[in-house]
Amino acid sequence: MQPSPDLAVVRFGELGIKSGKVRGQMLDRLADNVRAILDDRGIAGRVERRWSRILIWPEEGDTADRFGADEAARAAADAFGVVSTRPAIAVAPERDALETAAVSLAGDHPEGATFAVRANRAGSAETHPFSSQEIEREVGAAVGETTGADVDLDDPDETYRLEIREEEAFVSVAEYDGPGGLPVGTQGKTVLLFSGGLDSPVAAWELFKRGLEVVPVYLDLGAYGGADHLARATETAEVVARSAPHVDARLRVVPAGDLVNDLVAATEPTRMLSLRRAMLRVAEGVADDVGAHSLATGESVGQKSSQTGPNLRTTDAAADRPVYRPLLTRDKPDIVEQAREIGTFVDATMNVGCERVAPDYPETNATISGVEAAEPDDLLSRAEALAEERYVVGEK
Ligand code: ATP
Ligand code: MG
Repeated sequence: MQPSPDLAVVRFGELGIKSGKVRGQMLDRLADNVRAILDDRGIAGRVERRWSRILIWPEEGDTADRFGADEAARAAADAFGVVSTRPAIAVAPERDALETAAVSLAGDHPEGATFAVRANRAGSAETHPFSSQEIEREVGAAVGETTGADVDLDDPDETYRLEIREEEAFVSVAEYDGPGGLPVGTQGKTVLLFSGGLDSPVAAWELFKRGLEVVPVYLDLGAYGGADHLARATETAEVVARSAPHVDARLRVVPAGDLVNDLVAATEPTRMLSLRRAMLRVAEGVADDVGAHSLATGESVGQKSSQTGPNLRTTDAAADRPVYRPLLTRDKPDIVEQAREIGTFVDATMNVGCERVAPDYPETNATISGVEAAEPDDLLSRAEALAEERYVVGEK
């Protein structure tokens, strides 16, 4: 019978290079976020923060074979800030113990797969009377004997890892990639205009990845939107929020049907730009309430006529806070691929976003004064007031 891994070892990247105090805070936050993901998915596990790793152990009184280190490792790999996770066997940092652990993991070695053993060793020559290379060779020989598999040091199919610390060692072979980035909640809040199309959910994911707490806001465009649009926005917002269950990333819905009707009746070629300006103003209102430092959208340069350089300038002129556009330079096929990866791609031809508001001949080279002159005088103040009418689906 295979021994089950004892724990999950969580590796993080960029935050590891921060100075002592910032690093400590970020690590605390990451540990909390990992705890929240485990809780959210009903996985038991005690999260322990160390200097260079986060460890997930079975709860007191629980045993490794009931704990599910693999499941914990998979779940923790969804936390932003995590580079990868590994279900591992914990042993004493000694030759025999390391070898036995690696050989037991090798019981699951896939037929015909090549392998390598990689060790990294912290501690002195006194505590560990072997070099990293020596132990790699010895354990490699033992794994080779058990499996009959070939060694490939350049591009192995399976990598057996020995993380050797002063007083303990972790031996692993499976590894799950995390998103990298920074722990959510370490970079303050941003209010994201969220339509639930292809772009805005990917934008949400990118913002979360940089440690921002995302507050998604959806404008219900009334006759120009629809219940199906709202349903999709709600669903995709939930998918992204699964990786950050400790923050309130529920979709905020703002009823904007009347405002859009009036805008459409009053304005023609610059209509989309005025709508965008109104959206940003709604977002400003929400940002004031929730204490966000910035606004965000899923726009990229030139994707649509409203997203040309000059046109983006006119929309930003209506905003006070900086507008973050994480997809600014991304190509659509690349965004679509990422949407598939993060699970927000919905294969439907439904035109979400604000497509239906678009005029037949949109302006591509607008000026701020031109847009201002064409839009209803009270548009932006109305928009900002609308923020107060926001609600969360199911809680109205
Ligand atoms: P996506 O809305 O995801 O970008 P899309 O490309 O169909 O899909 P666009 O018309 O390009 O939508 O909208 C540009 C941006 O404007 C969106 O990324 C989003 O930030 C914002 N937006 C559009 N429609 C809405 C809406 N109904 N509610 C909130 N934000 C919206
Ligand atoms: Mg778009």
